Amino acid sequence: MIKKFKPINKAYKFRIYPNQEQQELIDKTIGCSRFIYNEFLTKTKEENYQSYTKYSRQLPQLKKEYEWLKEVDSIALQQSLKDLDRAFKNFFSGKYNYPKFKSKKSARQSYRTQKFIRSSGSTNIEIKDNYIKLPKLSWVKFVKSKKVKGKINNVTVSKSRAGKYYISINVRQILKTVVNNNQGELGLDLGIKDFLTTSNGEHIENPGHLSKYQDKLAKLQRRLARKEEGSNNWKKLKKKIAKVHEKIKNIRKDFLHKLSTRLTKENQLLVIEDLNVKGMLKNSKLAKHISDCAWNMFTTMLKYKGEWYDCIVHKVDMFFASSQTCNVCGTKNPKVKDLSVRTWTCSCGAAHNRDINAGKNLLKQGKLDLGIR
Ligand SMILES: [Zn+2]
Repeated sequence: MIKKFKPINKAYKFRIYPNQEQQELIDKTIGCSRFIYNEFLTKTKEENYQSYTKYSRQLPQLKKEYEWLKEVDSIALQQSLKDLDRAFKNFFSGKYNYPKFKSKKSARQSYRTQKFIRSSGSTNIEIKDNYIKLPKLSWVKFVKSKKVKGKINNVTVSKSRAGKYYISINVRQILKTVVNNNQGELGLDLGIKDFLTTSNGEHIENPGHLSKYQDKLAKLQRRLARKEEGSNNWKKLKKKIAKVHEKIKNIRKDFLHKLSTRLTKENQLLVIEDLNVKGMLKNSKLAKHISDCAWNMFTTMLKYKGEWYDCIVHKVDMFFASSQTCNVCGTKNPKVKDLSVRTWTCSCGAAHNRDINAGKNLLKQGKLDLGIR
């Protein structure tokens, strides 16, 4: 067993409770950050995109034109330009679309500010007990459900659709990892009934209380459909629905975090599938959408936690009929195409559980891709 130090970036998310004045300033800063982003994006329509340095030099002039920009955290405005810069770099790489204007209506309403140390030695961002000091806002109360470890890089302040405020504190942390202690290797098959099944035969179910809230959500949505749009009751219900949505999101995130941590810590190789190739036709659009989102989030978590814990996470791109192929002899059984077939026996005599067989095939294919014998 070798112990190793590994630097990582990590984000801590907490709910904050800003007072009335602070709420107004947060809303204003979010608005100003959006304004800066859109203003410079408009500029790039006339001239081609220049550079972050060039645009940030134009900020003081813009503040003279629009006095209200001076009221908010100036670092947030610079960060907004950095976001635009990133969006253009992504676009120029050829992998992303042309940057879009930021909308007041989008679900993500936020701004980001960065920590720095003044020459006097004081800092613009600080945590003391249940309070965080943020530029212009001063001390904001927050629920510190976890200890923040590491060096703070930056903080994102956001507002949810339900009108709640959050911070995400990005830190640089040194992780003590144990190298070569994780010997396992698994193929992971995504399911609808179970969240996933491993090639070892472990069935991992969705958290039980998730469906309770999903039922509640469906009920509320049916009620909403009967209300007059824009009425007070409609608005109230809309807010309630946003709250349940958030609850569901948090339950799922928590579940995915725990699972991805465990799997990457216990294994040195995980093989997952490319969801786009998997046919899940028998499911309603909504069910598919929900499971797609969860799977994408899960895949992202596995990837970065794999880096932390020295676990290779490999995605099998072009995939064959993983459920229909016998992992022992390779014979294809088209009858298994029918999703209701949960178990089957191959002509070679091997007895299969549908999902475990698929997981085993994934692992096999992944090892073949990577050249592991
Ligand atoms: Zn067989």
